[in-house]
Amino acid sequence: MKIAIIGAGLAGLAVAYFLSEKGEVTLFDAKGIGGGASGMAAGLLHPFAGQSGKLCRFGWEGLLATVALLNEVYPQKKGGILRLPFNERMREGLASQSELAPLSPEETEKQFPQVGKKSSFWCEEGYLIDTPAYLAALFEKLKSKGSILVQQKVEDFSSLQTFDKIILCMGSDSPFIPLQKLKGHLLEIEWPSHLSPLESPILGAGYIIPKGRTCIIGSTYERNFSSVAPDLEWAKRELLPQADRMINGLSQAKVLKVMAGVRASTHDHLPLIESIDSKTTLFTGLGSRGLLYHALYAKKLADGLI
Ligand SMILES: Cc1cc2nc3c(=O)[nH]c(=O)nc-3n(C[C@H](O)[C@H](O)[C@H](O)COP(=O)(O)OP(=O)(O)OC[C@H]3O[C@@H](n4cnc5c(N)ncnc54)[C@H](O)[C@@H]3O)c2cc1C
Repeated sequence: MKIAIIGAGLAGLAVAYFLSEKGEVTLFDAKGIGGGASGMAAGLLHPFAGQSGKLCRFGWEGLLATVALLNEVYPQKKGGILRLPFNERMREGLASQSELAPLSPEETEKQFPQVGKKSSFWCEEGYLIDTPAYLAALFEKLKSKGSILVQQKVEDFSSLQTFDKIILCMGSDSPFIPLQKLKGHLLEIEWPSHLSPLESPILGAGYIIPKGRTCIIGSTYERNFSSVAPDLEWAKRELLPQADRMINGLSQAKVLKVMAGVRASTHDHLPLIESIDSKTTLFTGLGSRGLLYHALYAKKLADGLI
């Protein structure tokens, strides 16, 4: 069976992984591996996403599927995420999850002196993934199974008629079904020298991801945007005060880099697998939970397709 996959992000590479045993996979991507939103995912993998802090639907199934795939191709994941509730709804949501360990303000300060005295929750079943490195490792695995990448924008699906199956994993550029598009900005900032190094990511109103002598702060969720290009001044205005509420002093840090990408979301925040015709299947709508859902849904798609 000859299979064409359009899009080499988390969705396309995971589908390719599960189908590569069953057929000959050719990946097409206009920009190369991780050229879309996947290449800039901050790397947070946990089942308690969203404003309420509660367990996501299929959260544990998604986490287990991703961890299994990571163990196959890229086992270097860092465990544990500190959750800082930023309103009562999130505090209640996090408190209702027995898997999260509540930390008193004193315990938080002892373990995370950078944060100071704030009540928090420790999420042991949360991970930080170096997403570009994971995508590269996944592609290496695919190459070893005979899959190839063609770096080319596919303008017309009828040019792929020699393939038996066509899977569209085009993220926010997906055709056929209207999706909500949410632009997200990230900033890389210098880690202030007066603060001790941060060992784990912090997730509150936004997030702080440690990265050696720098850190990534994110993210924005913009519904109305006219350009996908990053806007440094907007990102600074939005993200620096947000990060400062979690760690005092971050708003003064030197900004090194700005990045922006576009997420494609469905109304129920779950991915979408849709059969377009007898040959073509659409897989998109991973929203801001690509790491949580890509492996679970890619496996479902591969199992259902053949
Ligand atoms: C700022 C930001 C931070 C994020 N952080 C996290 C995080 O910490 N944890 C998490 O789980 N998720 C995170 N996400 C969400 C995550 O990035 C997405 O859910 C995921 O990347 C979606 O994967 P995808 O493969 O569906 O889409 P993409 O990664 O966008 O892949 C689509 C691919 O299709 C290609 N393509 C499109 N049209 C064509 C065409 N016509 N021809 C050829 N190729 C084409 C594109 O070049 C692209 O490479 C973040 C997103 C953003 C924007």
